[in-house]
Amino acid sequence: MRTHARREGDDFVINGAKRYISNARQAQVFIVMARTEPGSRDAAGISAFIVPAGTPGLTCGPTDRKMGQDGAETAEVFFDNVRVPASALIGGREGGGFKTAMRGINYARLHVAVTCVGQARRLLDETVAYVKQRQQFGQPLAEFQLVQAHLADSRADVQAARSMILEAARAFDTDGEAKGETITDIACCKLFSSEMLGRVADRAVQLHGGAGYMRGMVVEQLFRDARLFRIFEGASDIQRLVIGRSMVRG
Ligand SMILES: Cc1cc2nc3c(=O)[nH]c(=O)nc-3n(C[C@H](O)[C@H](O)[C@H](O)COP(=O)(O)OP(=O)(O)OC[C@H]3O[C@@H](n4cnc5c(N)ncnc54)[C@H](O)[C@@H]3O)c2cc1C
Repeated sequence: MRTHARREGDDFVINGAKRYISNARQAQVFIVMARTEPGSRDAAGISAFIVPAGTPGLTCGPTDRKMGQDGAETAEVFFDNVRVPASALIGGREGGGFKTAMRGINYARLHVAVTCVGQARRLLDETVAYVKQRQQFGQPLAEFQLVQAHLADSRADVQAARSMILEAARAFDTDGEAKGETITDIACCKLFSSEMLGRVADRAVQLHGGAGYMRGMVVEQLFRDARLFRIFEGASDIQRLVIGRSMVRG
């Protein structure tokens, strides 16, 4: 992270940039992570700030052209000597930003996992409806046992993701925040659910045959939308690192 905030009297002055910010051009307020300890490279030197849109020096680039997820724009956000009062420092303490971000990110990862289950169910519903009506070799595709086998794999995938999310969400609710094992369990939910959605989306397109590759088909759109979930809020390998580290370090 190279974005930094310099203390000047009662203010902080932020300089830097951040790519791929969802709904940046629509946002009224930004939560900005910046280094407040010059030269630091670890989490301890990161602080979090609340910066209202319209603050002088804060600008957004053009809307990115993405593979999918057309319902939410992204854009780069630039900070050119953006001045905020010290009261904009979240938690009122320098260096607490990474902790703040991680608290938010556990919730966001669980939310992504849930979204993956919802999208996978839609893909499955679309696919079951399609194979029931599409006739090949004198019968509906749905009657072929190999087609049913693919449906069954997707159904089992969805059920597994849903069950693990419910358990992690219950622990999150009980504790009021993610801590200890729950953080690992949430990383498991994000990893498994986003990879699961990739598999379900792939089978859905396959079972639609050529139609699944055509623009205008729901499964084609969801196939493209699904790809994001393995990348943002911590890519799959980052989740594997979180899980693996907690296992060997305790
Ligand atoms: C549509 C969209 C919306 C987004 N919205 C937001 C937003 O609102 N706010 C925001 O802050 N960000 C947002 N992002 C950014 C997103 O969180 C990052 O793109 C994502 O975390 C991956 O980071 P990166 O792009 O820098 O990839 P990189 O860090 O360059 O990683 C590329 C790949 O390298 C591998 N890799 C990276 N580091 C390691 C490692 N330590 N060990 C092993 N493998 C590794 C992984 O496989 C990873 O997929 C958004 C991105 C997209 C595409």
